Amino acid sequence: MNLTVDKYRLQKEIDELALITEAEPPIVTRVLFSEADLRGRDFVKQLAREAGLVVRADAVGNIFARWEGSDPKLSAVATGSHIDAIPNAGKFDGVVGVLGAIEAIRALKQSGFRPHRSVELIVFTAEEPTRFGIGCLGSRLLSGVWAPQKAAGLRDRDGKSLDEWRQGAGCAGPLESICLPKNHYAAFVELHIEQGPILERENTNIGIVEKIAAPSTLRMQLTGAGGHAGAVLMPDRHDAGLAAAEISLAVEQAVTGTGSPDTVGTTGVFRIEPGAVNSVPCRALLEIDVRDTQVATRDSALAQIEAAAVDICRRRGVALEVDRLNVDPPAICDGSLVETVAAVCRLLEISHRKMISRAYHDTLFMAQICPSTMIFIPCRGGISHRPDEFASPEQIAPGVRVLAQTLSQLTGPPATI
Ligand SMILES: [Zn+2]
Repeated sequence: MNLTVDKYRLQKEIDELALITEAEPPIVTRVLFSEADLRGRDFVKQLAREAGLVVRADAVGNIFARWEGSDPKLSAVATGSHIDAIPNAGKFDGVVGVLGAIEAIRALKQSGFRPHRSVELIVFTAEEPTRFGIGCLGSRLLSGVWAPQKAAGLRDRDGKSLDEWRQGAGCAGPLESICLPKNHYAAFVELHIEQGPILERENTNIGIVEKIAAPSTLRMQLTGAGGHAGAVLMPDRHDAGLAAAEISLAVEQAVTGTGSPDTVGTTGVFRIEPGAVNSVPCRALLEIDVRDTQVATRDSALAQIEAAAVDICRRRGVALEVDRLNVDPPAICDGSLVETVAAVCRLLEISHRKMISRAYHDTLFMAQICPSTMIFIPCRGGISHRPDEFASPEQIAPGVRVLAQTLSQLTGPPATI
């Protein structure tokens, strides 16, 4: 098969999508169901239609673009990623796996390949947690890891519900209709930038993901007592800000104490109210992210953090409310799918290595319902979630070729498998 990937066309499309942003370019901000997110979705749907794919969306806005195989009764092979972006992000996270998949499909079509199984591109809703504080909302619901009732209770910071947002975005149908049965797909492969430094440092083109670290998020709401910064003397205070500060340090202590170098913890949201220089903080909101490749060490760190928070708040006379927003298992990628991708890399003479993904992705959830893996490409300095996130056309193209060839092997007529 003669695969021609047009890396410049792909780059042009990545650049065009990056201009659809809530912020001043080159900053990319596309929060779920914002006007920029909706326009970005339209842009991708248009490209998919131009590539000859049949486009539909489910009740939470997951987009499916299908290249019908010669045997439509067979389960399809899926690929895809996301186009939503956190505030102040770059243009490659997620986008490479969406626009790269469209380019892979175009390259396959151009080569004369006709799939036996259908190929389906999925653009997942809200991989990023910005709107509702929960990441991978679309794939959580698709895989059934989250029950629809749980999603129905979601509200953003202003109290606006998921239902209000999705109806405003034109998503029709009940949340119950989103979940797909196990093995609805024959396989799922996600192309993505590494978001870490290993591939670039080793000068390797492709990382094949064997495992995705187990993520978890805690939300803590602290309520103390406010008051005048001059009038309330120190022994009388119940300062929610100080309790929050102590909890943040306890997070660091818990994750560095597990004995595993893979345990990481971050207090990424730290807000105090009323936020005035002459007022004692009466309320604090913390969101804490804890991850590990092992469930046991991750869970013990979580338990230690929660216990420390209870102690700290009791000592300071501050009320504490803890929500475990998500406590997810790690994903073990499918061994034979990983081997298929490795064989494709050898066939195409593209350097590769197997690796662990420490960031989580929609693949974490797709792995619960079908054989899954990820294809990583290098990004400059391992930098991501920043406007200077960068991968060159020369770094992206091998990823698209490996994805295209992998899709052809997984969907081709039986004789070619
Ligand atoms: Zn991503």
